[in-house]
Amino acid sequence: MKYIVIIPDGMADYPLEELNGRTPLQAARTTNMDYLAQNGFSGLVQTIPSGMKPGSDIGNMAILGYDPKKYHTGRAPLEAANQNILLKENEIAVRCNFVTIDHNEMSDYSAGHISTKEADILIKELNEQLGCDTIKFYTGKSYRHILVIKDENIEQLIKVQTAAPHDILGKDINHFLPKGKGSELFLEIMNKSKEILQNHTINQVRIDLKENPADMLWLWGQGTNPSLPAFKEKFGISGCIISAVDLINGIGRLAGLDIIDVPGITGYYDTNYLGKAEYAIKSLKKHDFVYIHVEAPDEAGHNGDARAKIAAIENIDREILGTILNHYDKHDDLRILLLPDHPTPVKLRTHTDDPVGFVLYGKGIQPDPTEKFNEATSKEKGLKFKSADELMNYFITKNQ
Ligand SMILES: [Zn+2]
Repeated sequence: MKYIVIIPDGMADYPLEELNGRTPLQAARTTNMDYLAQNGFSGLVQTIPSGMKPGSDIGNMAILGYDPKKYHTGRAPLEAANQNILLKENEIAVRCNFVTIDHNEMSDYSAGHISTKEADILIKELNEQLGCDTIKFYTGKSYRHILVIKDENIEQLIKVQTAAPHDILGKDINHFLPKGKGSELFLEIMNKSKEILQNHTINQVRIDLKENPADMLWLWGQGTNPSLPAFKEKFGISGCIISAVDLINGIGRLAGLDIIDVPGITGYYDTNYLGKAEYAIKSLKKHDFVYIHVEAPDEAGHNGDARAKIAAIENIDREILGTILNHYDKHDDLRILLLPDHPTPVKLRTHTDDPVGFVLYGKGIQPDPTEKFNEATSKEKGLKFKSADELMNYFITKNQ
């Protein structure tokens, strides 16, 4: 049996006036997702466990079969894992965003989606001026980077309250600065980053080009090394991941899954959708399981852009799912699972922990047809799984 999981990150949403009361998924042309619903089994699943923060780290960890309540130790260590940054004892990883601040308000969580090339120059400068035995910065992708802090008192640093910048858009940052014992170190690094970045030529050029500058480094999502039992051990099958996002690949690496490099994938609207499908099909020659994650719908949600969200959903439906359905025969030993990891409503521009719609299709899956796949039809079917790791277990083991 071959298994394909497709994650349109943040796809779920609420009805929008500008779409005549429809959600972006309802407004999008999704003939292939609807085909899965007409020939498969759909409903709602609670991907974010109660009391945990809705985010891609929690959502995707759960969907891959790992209960976040048991295994989650912070977001940054997962991203660090994808850069092969192995945290030693007394070390924590901290997520750093380059952000744009306007009159003390968080105006852009991505500093205008700064390029990795520009960001790397800034990270080198920060290491030059702030780096030492206990503080080291690592370049990630675009606006997402990692700081490793070595400290005798990491228990305290883990408990420092921080806020995700995409959760405080348009808000006064003074209300969301790191708080609690040990937060002084975070504040010191953030304040010094402001001084270093303020007059940096990279920012001068960005301002001249009317692009959002990287005004400061925003620290959040810190944690220690998580340890995940191997996916192969858990489910008895080998697998791989296709994603442009360090976080997702990091979870994959920690679970012993292969990371497939696809040329031209970006983690944004202009990603190589078709390439993801082609490499997924190829990877199943060697593996039993492939996890295809697509970031674009989430970015559109954070940008408050319904049109861009519809376009991303249609690209996923046509280029990824369409290519896969065209390649396989409906009698093949194949199962497909499609669901978002959490909603990122365009109106809210951040994540929520509402349950999301999923659709399961393929060999040994008892169909419970419905005409369309969207938030309303999934709601009608009701909550089928109280947790995403339960859904993954069902997907792989049901009728085997
Ligand atoms: Zn997400």
